[in-house]
Amino acid sequence: MPAPSKVDLIVEGMTCASCVGRVERTLSKQPNVLTANVNLASGRASVEVSGSNPDVELLVASLTSAGYPAREAVDRKAESKQRAYAQEIEILELKRAFLIAAALTLPIFVLEMGAHLIPSFGAWVHSAIGHTNSWLLQFLLATAVMFGPGRRFYTLGVPALLRFAPDMNSLVALGTTAAWLYSSVVLFLPSVIPAGSENVYYEAAAVIITLILMGRYLETRARGSTGEAIAKLISLQPETARIEVEGAVKEVAIDSIARADIVLVRPGERIPLDGEVTEGSSYIDESMLSGEPIPVHKKIGDSVTGGTINTTGAFSFRVTRVGDDTVLARIIQMVDAAQGSKLPIQSLVDKITRWFVPAVMLTALLTFCVWLYFGPEGSLSLALINAVAVLIVACPCAMGLATPVSIMVATGRSAQFGVLFRNGLALQALSNTKIIAFDKTGTLTQGKPSLTDFFPEQGYEEEVLLAKIAALEAKSEHPIAQTIVQYAQDKGLSLPLVSDFEAIPGYGLRARIGDELVEVGADRLLKDVDFSDSKVAVEAEQLAQEGKTPIYVAINGKLVALLAVADKVREGSQRAISALVNAGITTVMITGDNQATAQAIATQLGIDKVFAEMLPETKVESLRSLRSEGEVLSFVGDGINDAPALAEADIGIAMGNGTDVAIESADVVLMTGELNAVVNAVMMARATMRNISENLFWAFIYNIALIPLATGAFYPAFGLLLSPVFAAGAMAVSSVFVIGNALRLRRFKSAS
Ligand code: ADP
Ligand code: MG
Repeated sequence: MPAPSKVDLIVEGMTCASCVGRVERTLSKQPNVLTANVNLASGRASVEVSGSNPDVELLVASLTSAGYPAREAVDRKAESKQRAYAQEIEILELKRAFLIAAALTLPIFVLEMGAHLIPSFGAWVHSAIGHTNSWLLQFLLATAVMFGPGRRFYTLGVPALLRFAPDMNSLVALGTTAAWLYSSVVLFLPSVIPAGSENVYYEAAAVIITLILMGRYLETRARGSTGEAIAKLISLQPETARIEVEGAVKEVAIDSIARADIVLVRPGERIPLDGEVTEGSSYIDESMLSGEPIPVHKKIGDSVTGGTINTTGAFSFRVTRVGDDTVLARIIQMVDAAQGSKLPIQSLVDKITRWFVPAVMLTALLTFCVWLYFGPEGSLSLALINAVAVLIVACPCAMGLATPVSIMVATGRSAQFGVLFRNGLALQALSNTKIIAFDKTGTLTQGKPSLTDFFPEQGYEEEVLLAKIAALEAKSEHPIAQTIVQYAQDKGLSLPLVSDFEAIPGYGLRARIGDELVEVGADRLLKDVDFSDSKVAVEAEQLAQEGKTPIYVAINGKLVALLAVADKVREGSQRAISALVNAGITTVMITGDNQATAQAIATQLGIDKVFAEMLPETKVESLRSLRSEGEVLSFVGDGINDAPALAEADIGIAMGNGTDVAIESADVVLMTGELNAVVNAVMMARATMRNISENLFWAFIYNIALIPLATGAFYPAFGLLLSPVFAAGAMAVSSVFVIGNALRLRRFKSAS
């Protein structure tokens, strides 16, 4: 079966949560569509289509005819700019609409409310302009509000209603029209209204529109800042760069630069693309990608990353990656994908909100009927006004925003300190993690061991042995090998020829030099060699206690030397571990290293549990045994040789080195080698999930508490009614509250 392809669409006209479900269902009904995911906060739909040739036009057409104009999202950079521009225009339009509506509403409010609250003012209005004239004036102003700035609610809401797919605009349209129509009948055809019900509600219609416009305005403005992180990342790449063409220096657009071009970087400039330094050296500030504040020294041969800032040196580099392959582009893709992703809880929320609007309309109708039949005198106007209150208060706006806005803000904010969540699920799982297992080498330690001790057995010459050992290690990729080879090279030794070389992962190396069989590695490699009662065993134990890794060397089955390498613990590892322990997390170390060495380092760091002398395959088994305790398990590894473990754990956390984000098996990618990034990731995940629960709680409570109040259910017992004006205010407040609460995540501080 061919792999499914992905289509990203920009969808317009989604104003509330019930639209999300509708757009998703419309997309899912199209042929070949496997999944459809809509994000209300970003206004995007991501569709998985089987086959390699998705019919984008069909998808777009299906949405457009369902009332949601859509188009394909192509160029991220242009798209982001256009989105920001469109949003700015929308904000300005909403602001203008709100201000006009407010100006027109104020006199109505003063006339109607003023007359109610201050009887002498009411009497004055009555005598000065007359009762009917006051109502006429209100009619004119309210009509202007509704069909001027409030027009959008009818042009969107009425067609949705006619499609039997009512949304929040339909609720507003219905509610305000009912209030307006009733008032107009009272004003122009008073004879059809029963006695005692001759009230006008123009102020309700006008205030509802004004308040909801205000809510939308604030909401759109705040929503704009949730996508800020991506815009910031995109702006990290300069538009042009200076390259060397046939000896001359030319300034060209970034898009026209190809791989292997030589780019010149001046002090203080931003590095345009990824590459390798070919001339000069400098310190580079990589904090925008990794969150690490200290500039990194780069010399010839070191890799540089597009988007980072050169400090004081000047250098040139050869471009190695361009376009979508650059680290920055991949980060943007990851953040973008994560921002649009959903939590499992979201599908439940979507299901609820889809039923919400029709249920609300039914409730409003019931409210109207019950009040009409059982209400006190003048019940027609009470029935009407309570039904309007129900329509207005019950809009599920805040509910629809509760999770996506938090996810957007959180994933964007964490990217700023080098923590990339690949999806919303990772956020949710990480917030619940109880056990975090760490790979030792390269994660807890620097992964750059150095040779610390060398003990040849009696009768063997150090330099001869070292040359043989280095000859084997020269063929190995292991970090241990590099330090030994380096050491031998520094001594100027020439290495003998080896044959039949064999690297046994987790054990060590074996090869022939002339007629000798040379073995270098862990004690388990030399299981045929008995040294249990020699003084080597004591020495090895002593070295291991110091946190050094003993390495045994045997020739023809006879032990000839003992070496030790030590890998420095990363600065900050201890602080990070104790922060995790304080957060109630069990920490585990998994390593192929010697038991005693591993234990010594674990004790130094305060790690709870050690799995030592693991082979690559037993690493995965030990993770399974940890998982069998039923707790959510995370594994932190460097992502290169730890892919199986990263995939096995519930949450795989890959530690990058600031340049490598090509880590497919991980759920969370850390752009920094500092372990405090793990603490940041966990704390951010917890803060986000807490934020989401707060949002959902308030959004639901607001609806659940205010609907009965709006129906007038508390009237018989407590005399409580909810005026539609307050209903509109409460609705605006609840959306703004949810977004404001999510935006608090922007202030999340990185652990130090
Ligand atoms: P880690 O979990 O530290 O990455 P490995 O599985 O890579 O562990 O290695 C486990 C052990 O095997 C090392 O601690 C070392 O004793 C031995 N070993 C592996 N490769 C080599 C090598 N090239 N030279 C010497 N010893 C090696
Ligand atoms: Mg390893």
